[in-house]
This record gives sequence, C-alpha cells and structure tokens, in this order.
Amino acid sequence: LDNKVIQSKNDKFVAKTQQIPYSPVAFEKGEGAVLFDHDGKKYIDFLSSACSANLGHGNKEIADAVRDQMYNITQYTFAYFNTEPPVLLAEELAKLPTGASDNKVLFSATGSAAIDSAIKISRGFTGRTKLISMIGAYHGSTFGALSLSALSINMRKSLGPLVPEVYHFRYPDSEHSWQECIDEMKDAFNHYLPADEVAAIFIEPVAGDMGLVIPPKEWIQELRNICDEHGILLVSDEIQLGLCRTGKWFALDNFDVKADLYVLGKSVGGGLPLGAVVGRQEIMDKLDAPAHVFTLAGNTTVCVSALKSLEILKRIDANKLSVEKGQYLERKIENLRERFPFIGEIRGLGLSIGVDIINPETKEKDPTATAKICYECFKRGLILIFINQSTLRVQPPLVIEYEQIDEAVKILEEVMEDFSN
Ligand code: PMP
Repeated sequence: LDNKVIQSKNDKFVAKTQQIPYSPVAFEKGEGAVLFDHDGKKYIDFLSSACSANLGHGNKEIADAVRDQMYNITQYTFAYFNTEPPVLLAEELAKLPTGASDNKVLFSATGSAAIDSAIKISRGFTGRTKLISMIGAYHGSTFGALSLSALSINMRKSLGPLVPEVYHFRYPDSEHSWQECIDEMKDAFNHYLPADEVAAIFIEPVAGDMGLVIPPKEWIQELRNICDEHGILLVSDEIQLGLCRTGKWFALDNFDVKADLYVLGKSVGGGLPLGAVVGRQEIMDKLDAPAHVFTLAGNTTVCVSALKSLEILKRIDANKLSVEKGQYLERKIENLRERFPFIGEIRGLGLSIGVDIINPETKEKDPTATAKICYECFKRGLILIFINQSTLRVQPPLVIEYEQIDEAVKILEEVMEDFSN
C-alpha cells in the first residue's frame, strides 16, 4: 500500500481520538535514526516514536532475540505461571540505581497502566487516598493516569468523574518561583489538604509534554523533604525520559533526589509494549494478590526485547552517548539562535532538548511559526513535532550518528532560513 491508501483507511476505520500531525505518511521501514515511508521517502527521526524507540528502528539484535523467543513460546501469562524472561527482567530492573537494594517490580503493558499500578501501590501501602500531581503534567490516558494528568482539556472533556482526591499544583516557571510553588502546597496542607492523608506526590522530573521544562533542583529536593516529613511517597514518572534519555538511568537523578517508586514505560520494552513500577519490597509487597493483574503484563516475548534493549544500553554506554550527542546537538541549535531571533529558550538534558519558538518582538509563544517550521521540516525529511503550542521536541534515538545530526540540523537551518525571508 502507499501512503495515501493507508491514510484513507485510517480515516475510515480508526477512531479520531489520536492526532496524526502530517498526512498522508506511513512508515514502512527504519534503520537506526532513519525512517522510510511507503512511498520510499527518507526521514531522520527526531521523535523516536515518542521516546519508545530510544535504540532506533529495525534493531536486528532485538529482532533476532524476539524471533527466537517466539519460536519457543511467545507468551504465557505471568499472572498465573512463570516464564524465564519476565523474572530475569524484574531482576535487571530491580538493580537499577534507585538507591534501594531490595527492589521489586510490577509489570504492566503500557506506561499509563504502570501509573495506575503506582496509584494502587501507593494507596495500598500508605492506607491513604489523596494524590498530588502537577498542572501541565502528562501521566497517561487510563482513568487513573488521566486523573493525575492536567495537560489538555480535550483529554478530560465529556468523560464523567475521574479518580477522586487528586490535587494539582504548579510547576515552577518564569512567573512562579520554586519557593512560591512549595509555599502554595504547604498552604494547602494548612487549609484544605491534610498532608497525612496524602498517599503520593507524582512528578515528571522534567515536564515532558508541557515543553520539556526543567524545574530547579531545589523544588524537587523540597518535594522530597515534604514527602519525608509527612510519610508521603514520591513517585517519579520516568516513562518518557527514563532509561538514558537524559544521560542518567533516571531523569530524577539529574536532581540528586531518589524516589520511592519509579515508573517506566515507552522505551523499556525495546519498542514493544511494556510498563513497570520499581520500588522497595515493603511498598511493592503490600497489596494482596490478586490486587493488580493484567493478562499481558510482563509478556514473555516483550520481556526478551526489554532484556536485550537493557543489555545494549549498557554495552553502548547510552548515558554517555546521550550526554555527548545531546551537547553536540544543543550547541548546533544554539548556533542557529544567533541567526534566528525567533528561537527562544533552549532546554536540554542529554538527548532531550526543548526549543521554544517565539515572536522576536513580543517574546511570546508563536504557535503559527512553530507549526510551519515543523511542517516544512517534515516535507524535507526531518520528523520534528512540537509540544505545548510552540516548543520543538528534539528527542532523536540515542543511536543517532553525528552525521545524521548534522544532516538534520542542516534541514532545520534551511527551513528557518526560508521562514525568515
Ligand atoms: N507518562 C509520561 C511522562 C508520558 O510521556 C507518557 C506518554 N506520552 C505516559 C506517561 C503514558 O504512557 P503510555 O502512552 O505508554 O500509556
């Protein structure tokens, strides 16, 4: 099929709840950071399948491991019986640098479902019901994860009651200092939200879909102090930015803070659907079986893909690569800013870089310019999307080659050049 036919089938048969930014296009093949569509056109991928393809596309090592597993046994539900891969994967994930030495793991099939797991685990462990999360955060689309999310009103309209007792607070930004944000929470504790009834504070250490906003260290450290003071669990949503994307195993490590629960998704399955919660044994074992089971969670074959992907991340020293390539790419975008005054703030941590597009006179967001730039990049073979109206989301696969970074930035430069004229 070609791009157009695939798009027309999509229009006819696929519910319109997801957004396809550019059409008609459908990818047929990928090699590392490069994609090819059904009409044979080549693209460099700056989106990494929304960070679910951190090792790029068409990884033969993962494909071989998956094929071998499928020939033996594709899946036996971990809800009833063991197969080897999910147990070995739990062992590997338990050894990630969370700061605890007795971690256990609970699998799910998606990031959103892993967030739901973390809600249940933290309510079960603390015996408390109230939950805190941040305005602008995205934690997923299931009812639980959506209840924590406060990103887009379209995600919440017409859905009836969500999970009750979720309280949203602000991320620090240019108008609200970290201290003000903390004071607001403490004020809430004094007036309407008893701190000792709060089970967990959920954070994305870097606010991904809100524009890859990097909060001050002090804010996250103070949230940790609040959790310690009131017996609240700190839950780090690492679904988008965990596992080497920011140059650390966990995005939270950039803030010298440890969480009580770490939630993984997206890239953890090596491209196949998987989510996981990692935390100390006393917390993870609190709910009684069968409190939380999914037939396909910890799918045998998916866990093989995840194990292979972790092995590769370690072997290639993905954290180091992420930092080095991230700095290289960020510097190149900084250089563009000298020529193009509509480039505003650039926020990078490893290979995750947010680039604001602004009106040079007013310094306000410029959604129209942002959309135009992204669309032109797409037409010229660079997959680049924007978030929060006017932030370019620059998150290429960690295996992108330096020449591919050069090629992609050249496209961006040409697009910006044309846009300025
Ligand atoms: N948390 C974060 C930070 C995310 O970026 C996402 C996905 N964009 C999710 C949770 C939800 O993950 P999934 O789409 O796999 O359910």
